[in-house]
Amino acid sequence: MVEECEVVDCEEEVFKSVSSSYAPLIQQLGLKVERRGKRIKLCKKHYKEIRKVKRKIKRTMF
Ligand SMILES: [Zn+2]
Repeated sequence: MVEECEVVDCEEEVFKSVSSSYAPLIQQLGLKVERRGKRIKLCKKHYKEIRKVKRKIKRTMF
């Protein structure tokens, strides 16, 4: 059985999981996640988008 990305309405295969501290970033992208556990499982596309946002936030903070 293939695990699916936890972003609501996304049915892509899971690529990587991130910690739940990423949840606010995901919300900033206008996405909703089904929270099932401590970690959020994401497909390749959503994972990349979230990493991009994370980098941007780091830049503006320092
Ligand atoms: Zn996805």
